[in-house]
Amino acid sequence: MADGHYHSIRFDASACHGCMACMRVCPTQAIRVRRGVAAMIEDRCIDCGECIKACPKSAVVPLTASPDGLGRFDCTIAVPSPALYTQFDGEVTPGVILQALKASGFDAVATLSWAGEAVTRALELFLADYGGPVPLISSFCPSVVRLVQIKYPELVGQLLPILSPREVAAREAKRAAAEQTGLPADRIHAVYVTPCPAKMVSIVDHPGMETSYIDAAVGISDLFPLLAPVIREVQAGGADAPEPETSAGLGWAFSVNLPSTLSEERTLSVWGLSNVVRTLDDIDKGRLQRYTFVECHACAEGCVSGPLTVENPYVARARALRLQRTLPARDVTDPGDMRSRYARGEFGTTVPFSVRPPQPLGRDIVSAIARMKERDRVAGRLAGIDCGACGAPTCLSFAEDVVRGAADEADCVFVRQQQLLDRIAQLSERAEGRA
Ligand code: SF4
Ligand code: SF4
Repeated sequence: MADGHYHSIRFDASACHGCMACMRVCPTQAIRVRRGVAAMIEDRCIDCGECIKACPKSAVVPLTASPDGLGRFDCTIAVPSPALYTQFDGEVTPGVILQALKASGFDAVATLSWAGEAVTRALELFLADYGGPVPLISSFCPSVVRLVQIKYPELVGQLLPILSPREVAAREAKRAAAEQTGLPADRIHAVYVTPCPAKMVSIVDHPGMETSYIDAAVGISDLFPLLAPVIREVQAGGADAPEPETSAGLGWAFSVNLPSTLSEERTLSVWGLSNVVRTLDDIDKGRLQRYTFVECHACAEGCVSGPLTVENPYVARARALRLQRTLPARDVTDPGDMRSRYARGEFGTTVPFSVRPPQPLGRDIVSAIARMKERDRVAGRLAGIDCGACGAPTCLSFAEDVVRGAADEADCVFVRQQQLLDRIAQLSERAEGRA
């Protein structure tokens, strides 16, 4: 964590060959490539993982836990993202995957069935009393929350103050394990099997909570090669256990299970970061006030296409839709129980979402304005074609780097070329004067 910013990725300078592919896809202009090596600007990164997908050299490394180190607690509970169910071919049901997780050494496995449904009920109850600004913005994708905190501080109050199903599932599974085993809480660990590195951030530095109920995250891509042979063994064993997952739990892999009380005309679903940014811009300008709820997903196909998944995202999405149709749709929550749990605050976030604006250009407003003017002057001397050759994604971001002292104007090839031409002209003038 640097300057209070924990991140779930790091750049491996020894593997980076400076191609700038990561810099070009970063939605928040958080990457610079200087002296042939990529590096992150900490206070701008939202941990979306787009750079992981773009890097041809695997030089962007997710900081998830290694599956090897998970057995050191007395009780380790796997909390699989429903995205895991979409990574294997159609014959492999969620029930088989959950059995394989247990056979791989996890002491218990928690599905999102109950938690997913419980969160939908909590959302219903919250909306019934809500009278604040709209639209509310879903807070289940950690990258979207970070984007709002960094780029749209005025919208932080519109982030939905309800816990995610993965947090609720981990809490309930830990409670159940403590009752069954009598172990102290610090010997029971919940491990999220994650499709994206951003979930790692939400564990270490959870927005809206003092502490996450999840203790570690292991990437689907890391677990996949270990799980695949165990799945084959489970299938060969022919065990025919009842299906523990429901369509409500699975739905969270790619969409919020919206309450039936919310009409389709009052909700929006937005996929992919460029679309999320466009929508947040519109909300910021007050254009979407006829909507009550906007669910935003950083990944274009939802969690099934996260940077730590292994399957083709369209195949994974097709499987998710099929599973959603075929899994049992039973109602696993009790309305009375939900109302009393909601009233006890079991589903609400416990601390307000904070704003995290990037480092300002100056120490105070006056110096920030002066430096913005200086930045615009520098930008005015640049070619304005955003070629990226300087190692910054745009001419304006390069000008800002120059004003901050992080780059030299002569790093721009066009400025250098002009300097060279000026120097040649000077020398020839001098030579002509001597002639
Ligand atoms: S994780 Fe996303 S925001 Fe962070 S550096 Fe990579 S592309 Fe940029
Ligand atoms: S994509 Fe980024 S991190 Fe990967 S090799 Fe290219 S410059 Fe380096």
